[in-house]
Parts: sequence; C-alpha cells; structure tokens
Amino acid sequence: MADPSPPRVVDGATHNGIPTTTLEGAYPPYVGTLSIGVGTADEAPLQMGITHLAEHLVFRVLDETIPPRAEGITSAHTLEFSVTGTPAEVAAGLNQIGAVLAAPHFDPNNVDRERRVVRAERGGGGVFGAGLLTYRYGVGGVGNAHHTGEPATSYLTAPDAQQWISTWATRSNARLHFAGPVPAGLNVQLPERPVPARSVSVPLVTRPSLVESGKGGVALSLLVDAGLAPILRDVVVHDLLRALRHDCGLIYSVIPEITGIGEGRAQLDFVLDPVEDDVARTVEEATLALRRIARDGVSAMGLARTQTGWRNDLDNPYAWGRYLDAATEADLQGFPRPPEPPDLLRIIETITPHELTKTLADALGSLLVAYDETEELRDGLADELGLVLDDFSPWRPATSRRPRRWTARARPTGRYRRRVMLGVADTVLWRRLRDDWETLDLTTLALVGLCPDGALELMDGRGRACVLDLDDWNGGERFREAVLAATPHTIQRDMSLFHD
Ligand SMILES: [Zn+2]
Repeated sequence: MADPSPPRVVDGATHNGIPTTTLEGAYPPYVGTLSIGVGTADEAPLQMGITHLAEHLVFRVLDETIPPRAEGITSAHTLEFSVTGTPAEVAAGLNQIGAVLAAPHFDPNNVDRERRVVRAERGGGGVFGAGLLTYRYGVGGVGNAHHTGEPATSYLTAPDAQQWISTWATRSNARLHFAGPVPAGLNVQLPERPVPARSVSVPLVTRPSLVESGKGGVALSLLVDAGLAPILRDVVVHDLLRALRHDCGLIYSVIPEITGIGEGRAQLDFVLDPVEDDVARTVEEATLALRRIARDGVSAMGLARTQTGWRNDLDNPYAWGRYLDAATEADLQGFPRPPEPPDLLRIIETITPHELTKTLADALGSLLVAYDETEELRDGLADELGLVLDDFSPWRPATSRRPRRWTARARPTGRYRRRVMLGVADTVLWRRLRDDWETLDLTTLALVGLCPDGALELMDGRGRACVLDLDDWNGGERFREAVLAATPHTIQRDMSLFHD
C-alpha cells in the first residue's frame, strides 16, 4: 500500500556546494537528478541545437558504463540528467555524469554520429522546423525550444560542445534532487565560475494571428499567468475536447504544453490532431470555441474534473517528480517556484470559474492559431476570425521600385526562363514568379547555410527560412557569390555535414 500522506519537499542542503532538494516520505522509484541551468533558450541563432548535441555527447563518453536507467533531457531552460535505480546505482551514475560535465572531452569522431542520431530523433526533415514558440519569439531565445531543425548541429564541432558545457555546468548553476534521501557515496564535483547573463525573450508577434505552419494539424497558443497555467491547461483541454471532439467530431486529442517565459508568464499551447480534410474547419471551430469559453465561462464540469484528478495525484510519485523538475528549473532561472501539488489543489479548490474565465479572456490578445500550410483555408477566414494572417515566409510582396542595376541575376534554364527570376541588388534579394515580385531583406538574416550542391539555406531572426536551389540556373554561380558578398561572413556556415 502506498503511503497515503503526500511527500514533503526538503530544501536547504548542499552537496559539494550544489543546492540539493530531497523528497521525504516518497516511495519508489528512487530517482536522482542533476540539472544544469542551460537550455535551448540560451542558444544564439548560430548555436541552435548545441545543448541537445552536448547532452548526447555526454552519454557517448559514458557509453556502457552508465547505469541502464539513466537519461538526459534538454528543455527550454534546463539540461537534466536523471538516474533511476538503487541509491548505489543512482550515486554511481550521477558521479560519472558529474565527472564528464566537470572536464568534458568529446571525441570528434563521435560528433558526426551523434549529429545523425539527433537528426533521426527529430524525425529527419530539413534544417528548418519552426514551432509555436518560434512563431511568437523568433530564434535566439525561448523560440528555439520549438525549433526542431537545430541547424547548428550540422556544423558544430567537439570543442564547441566542450566549451558550451564548461561555460554552463558550474556549481551554482546546478541543482541536485532526489526522490528520497541523498544516496551514500554521492560525489558530484563541479567547478565554480560565473555563468553568462540570460536574456529575456520578447514576443515579436503582438496581435492575434493565424500562422501558416510547416507542421501538420492545428495548434492554439496563449500567453498566461505562470501560476494559473496548469489549472487553465487542464480545464481548457477538457472544454476544447467537449467542443471539438464530442460536439464536432473533428479531433481525437488535445496535447497541452506549458513553457515558462520568465517574469511570471508562461506560453500555454494546445496541439490538435484533425485529419487533413478537417484542418480548415478545425481552425475555425477551435478559434470560435476558445473565444466562446472565454466569453461564456469555463465549465464547472472541467473545473470539477481537474480538481478530482489533482486530488488523486497528491500521492503520485510521478506528479511529485514533475513538480521537482519544475521547481528546479524555476530556481535555476531565478523565477518563483510553482506551487507544490497540495498548494495547487488548494488554489483550484478556491478559484471560481469566473476568475479562471477572466484569466483566459485576458490572454486572448496573445492568441496564435497555427495550421498546416498545405491545406487551403477559405478566403477571408482570418479576417472573419479577427486574426492577422502570417505566412511565416521571409519573402514580402515588393513595395519598392525594381532596381535599375542588379548585382547579379539568375534564371532557370528551360521553359520557365521568362517567368522566374532571382536577383540581388545591394542587400535586397528579389524574386519574380510570373507577374509577382517579392523581396527578402538580407540584413534580417540570422544564418546563411552553404550546401555542398551550391544551394543556399537562409533563415531570418524570426526563424523564417527558405532554400535557394540554383542547380541548372543560368547565372547561378555569380548570383550565389553576390548573395554571399551581401551577407556578413560571420553568419555563413558550411552545412555539408548535414547533407552528406
Ligand atoms: Zn536527444
């Protein structure tokens, strides 16, 4: 029988100078976790993916000497290593991980293999893969956490990853937590040095928007009060399921996700899974449903069910494990900790549907709706829904006169020769498709990737990307040189590792 009284969080201890938290009264599984305060949000655009790659390389060093139930997780704000097992196994595993973090030395021969593993883990695909956080925050901050492309993994080296670990894996930027007492024999030693200052991510999209996405399905995103985010998450999931699954038959599930942004704010996302034919209707029904919930009120049933679920979780060791992870992340960021499970239950038992509804209504100004861009939406739908249409493309319809002098121009060979053109003049890229002219401001780019076949992969600061594939174009080579001459050398990277 499980212990009926909830575990107790005990803080205040240190281990070799690392702040350490334990759960008293918890029962198996016994887990020990070493968290480092660095994540994808700390990566500059040219470093996107370095934390994840470094995590893989740490395990590559340990190889088969690490206990079998050890894992690493890279998130927006933390790099977390946890070991499950007997106290002796947990101590031994964390000691080994700590030793690698304290003096990282990665074999360059493993970098290429782990880069492939990372690529397989994220499901293949291209160098660019923006998600909800990217749409709102761009790249080079918390937006990286939803960017699945991790372009930097194509050119990062072993010394880059070593440097990254050495910079961030320090005593005061680390935390230990255990689902029970600190194990005997634990000896994690990290060096002490100051870590770089963290920047606060600022939303780049500030009006409710409908975003064309490279991902399948439909998703909704809001900025909310971080403390109320878990309650809002569970109640809104319930109410969206009622509206979109039960009443409309459009979806099977609503997968929610919360990401802390700092300053008491969190992004709350709901990923919906309609079949392709239902994408357009789901965009409409989901937006209307969310607005209806914010106007007419969250359901008493959703609130009651959330309360029951949380009451049942009070002695659930996984719920406490999730709490410890979240509290540790908050400590490392210098954010206030989330409420402990019993406190959260007290909040949800006293909050009124009216208060929760108001929180949701206040968040609607930050609404983003993303949908699979391969599906056609009805003309004017964005307007009807009061959303700004965002094609998430780095190209803009041309608003200025075409240049008199081109630095270089290229045209495809063959039948489209007269209708298609790429040109560069000063720092502006021009594109003609039939009678439409579009421009791309090269000064907004964050990355210019050079592919071995001569193609250029361009990504701007919002994470919007395109590929210039100049294979078999007349003037392609000169055009490519002109683009490279018009962009800073410091943002150009050889992507051949990714393309081999
Ligand atoms: Zn991984």
